[in-house]
Amino acid sequence: MSTKIGTKRPDVAIRNKSKEQSDKMIASWKNEEVRKKRMESMKKNQSRKPSYGHTGKKHTEDVKQIIRKKIKGIFSGNKHWNWKGGITKINRLIRNSFKYRQWRSDVFTRDNFTCQECGKRGGRLEAHHIKEFSKIIQEYNIKTIEDSENCEELWNINNGQTLCSNCHNKTKNGNNKKLAFRLP
Ligand SMILES: [Zn+2]
Repeated sequence: MSTKIGTKRPDVAIRNKSKEQSDKMIASWKNEEVRKKRMESMKKNQSRKPSYGHTGKKHTEDVKQIIRKKIKGIFSGNKHWNWKGGITKINRLIRNSFKYRQWRSDVFTRDNFTCQECGKRGGRLEAHHIKEFSKIIQEYNIKTIEDSENCEELWNINNGQTLCSNCHNKTKNGNNKKLAFRLP
């Protein structure tokens, strides 16, 4: 078949039917009753749900288990693109700890609650880690809250910077270095 752009595709219906047949078709479309019936059946077909192959069928519990396992195997743990070496949980624990909140408030106080990037004071402020928080956790192999409490670098307020949430979002788009270099 020619794939030239602009070439008209031959009308399949007409090509496959003899002249007599297509004349009959055209004639029948002129008959109002036949046309109505056809239109109705076309509408019915259109309102039918599209076929997704598995619609309406349910997997048995066994099959579900197998699928779950397979998906887990593909996407979990160190096979996941966002795998950071199992630190997500400890990361969260530390962020909820008293010491972390203390560090944050120390950073805010030192910066006089002012965004160090745009100079806006107050509003939604965040304490940005110049050296990535998760990097420090990895580097010092921090596994527990106790480990974290003994890690000086984690609580160094010189590694913190007050940013408004707008400016903080920008650091997440790869502008980290630029911001880090501006620090005294
Ligand atoms: Zn800002």
